[in-house]
Amino acid sequence: MANCLFCKILAEEIPAARVLENTDFIAFLDIAPAKPGHILIVPKKHYENLLDFPPEMGTALLQTIQQVGAAQMKALGAEGFNVLQNNFPAAGQEVFHVHWHVVPRFTKDGLMHWPQGAYASLEEMQAVQQKIRNATSH
Ligand code: 5GP
Ligand code: ZN
Repeated sequence: MANCLFCKILAEEIPAARVLENTDFIAFLDIAPAKPGHILIVPKKHYENLLDFPPEMGTALLQTIQQVGAAQMKALGAEGFNVLQNNFPAAGQEVFHVHWHVVPRFTKDGLMHWPQGAYASLEEMQAVQQKIRNATSH
């Protein structure tokens, strides 16, 4: 895909600190890490976001995530890791080639959980529940 940063990394037109490659994915260090060792897992084929990503690649994806998370714990002494994935600009997606962030975590490492809110009422919560139920039923 022309003008896609991650396609350029895949084509080795732009350098990246690669840590893993398998049939369907590469993984490399995020250039602006939330913590050192923050890794991006990127499919070799260009899919824009999670809605375009073939579900049948899910098993290979999960195996890759497990490998990366386990490596962060073993190699960096991480005590845990977060898996994050942004879809569309409103959700913070900046590179439109789907990817998964794997961030190594340490107890009291200063990274924040996202702020949590509240529903104004039980009715508001039930209205949201109903809308989503309607949209997911076939
Ligand atoms: P998004 O916000 O789309 O979920 O994440 C894009 C990520 O790509 C960001 O965390 C950003 O730091 C990372 N990034 C942007 N440009 C480059 C680059 O040239 N090389 C690498 N390795 N990561 C990059
Ligand atoms: Zn791409």
